[in-house]
Amino acid sequence: MKFIFVTGGVISGVGKGVAAASIGKILQSYGFSVTIIKIDPYINCDAGTLRPTEHGEVWVTDDGGEIDQDLGNYERFLGADIPKKNNITTGQVYREIIRKERSGKFLGQTVQFIPHVPDEIKQRIKEAGKGHDFVIIEIGGTIGDYENLPFLFAAKSLEIEYGKENVANILVSYLPIPKNVGEMKTKPTQQAIKMLNETGIFPDFVLCRAARPLDNIRKKKIETYANICSDNIISAPDIKTIYKVPLNFEKEKLGEKLLKRFGVKPLQTPNWTAWQKLVDKIENPRKKITVGIVGKYVDIGDFNLADSYISINEALKHAGAELDVGINIEWIDSKLFEKNQKKLDELNNCNGIIIPGGFGSSGVEGKIAAIKFCRENDVPFLGLCYGMQLAVVEFARHVLGWDAHTTEIDPNTDYPVIDILPSQKRVMEKSEYGGTMRLGAYAAVLENSEILKNYKETGRLDRDALKVNELKKNPEQAFRLGILNNAENVILERHRHRYEVNPEYVEELSKNGLIFSGYHVREDETKLMEFLELPNHPCFIATQAHPEFKSRLGDPAPMFLKFVRACYL
Ligand code: GLN
Repeated sequence: MKFIFVTGGVISGVGKGVAAASIGKILQSYGFSVTIIKIDPYINCDAGTLRPTEHGEVWVTDDGGEIDQDLGNYERFLGADIPKKNNITTGQVYREIIRKERSGKFLGQTVQFIPHVPDEIKQRIKEAGKGHDFVIIEIGGTIGDYENLPFLFAAKSLEIEYGKENVANILVSYLPIPKNVGEMKTKPTQQAIKMLNETGIFPDFVLCRAARPLDNIRKKKIETYANICSDNIISAPDIKTIYKVPLNFEKEKLGEKLLKRFGVKPLQTPNWTAWQKLVDKIENPRKKITVGIVGKYVDIGDFNLADSYISINEALKHAGAELDVGINIEWIDSKLFEKNQKKLDELNNCNGIIIPGGFGSSGVEGKIAAIKFCRENDVPFLGLCYGMQLAVVEFARHVLGWDAHTTEIDPNTDYPVIDILPSQKRVMEKSEYGGTMRLGAYAAVLENSEILKNYKETGRLDRDALKVNELKKNPEQAFRLGILNNAENVILERHRHRYEVNPEYVEELSKNGLIFSGYHVREDETKLMEFLELPNHPCFIATQAHPEFKSRLGDPAPMFLKFVRACYL
């Protein structure tokens, strides 16, 4: 096993995650098996209880982990399903050490920061890396933060255990170009390197993020002041699409240099043709469409973070690259329609509307109004999780005339068409919020429908069938995921929610024209509705799942492909 630690200098948010994912992609292209671990130095045990408007979207893994969005980039670049053990937080580390201490695992010992904390971190890194040639470990935060010290200590300790030849360090730094000076400044990077040196770590490579490419003069300057060969100082300028990052790194021969650093020969010659083609289509698409994402946007001071819907954004790009369509996204605050119904007309400027996942009452009536607009005006609509639940509420209200709602907002509604699962009710009553939603991959049976056709045409149905057969080897797990013995047309998608379409209303809604095109069978045999669509509409589709978490460049999520195609037709 070989380890590559990726740390960040100067400021956060410069794309350490994308850099780590790109390095992984490059090593994969040389034929190696790679996995990536994200270390989050916060005390939360996972990202499930963090505010998405501050930290960005919560990523969900197949095995139900709620994790920082960087894991999403790793999956999108590596094309692999990464498990939750690939995320290590300070909270997890301390919780486990205290659990071990209480259960007598350290009997007689004084349990201390050193060696117990770095030992637990190293153990977790090795466990997640098992079976891979390369393990990339991204350490969250910025060099100089107090909270990432134990992780840097563990990195150094791993180097001693495995030998320098098996551990490399990469610093992703930022080089500002102050407007009044008009020159790219290397000093903050020199200082970040110095700070990293203080922990005993000397970076083998520095990836220099900046608005513009780094010139040789600056490479030399960093070489002189930080004693790192300028060959290993890699330019990483701003670009139009993150998918170009590995291509740019390869222009600077990062892959070759890394393999040389480890004394390893490539297992195959990289072939970037297919990836390059998709990147070209993202950069120079033949057609263009505008998609409105009607969601909840909260400003942080003077800034507004669109990161809360990052996977939807990426899934749209993947579908666009496949169809040679460029996608312009309009971020529309749903509260706008609550203040002024006339604003709905502005949706005519969009070729299609997405209602993303969400929680709570803010902007809900605006989302329902937007769904009604799409249904009545033949505007392509894609509802994701909350988006599907609100589509059911909209249909119940305006087609059936019921005074309907989700009990998440109105617990006493006359028509609780969306209601909480009994198991979730118990969780909420006990205030056990962390990691208790319906999380991770579950199976759904698709019925004869447009959505079934959609999963078939993309080849996804066949690929999920292989996975389903594999999962059936463990009958207990298969049962938990809702994989029935004889069912056909089974697909797997990821979930993160507490509420469901109320089974009591399914028949009445169906009779009136709402097609439920797929369902999951719970352990107690209740059928949970997973997909819906409307006939006689160019594209009105929704799902209780989050298909955006399975979308990759070169393998777009079926529903996104269908939606984007409908948008430009
Ligand atoms: N708030 C809804 C629920 O908990 C939807 C969640 C979501 O969109 N992820 O069921």
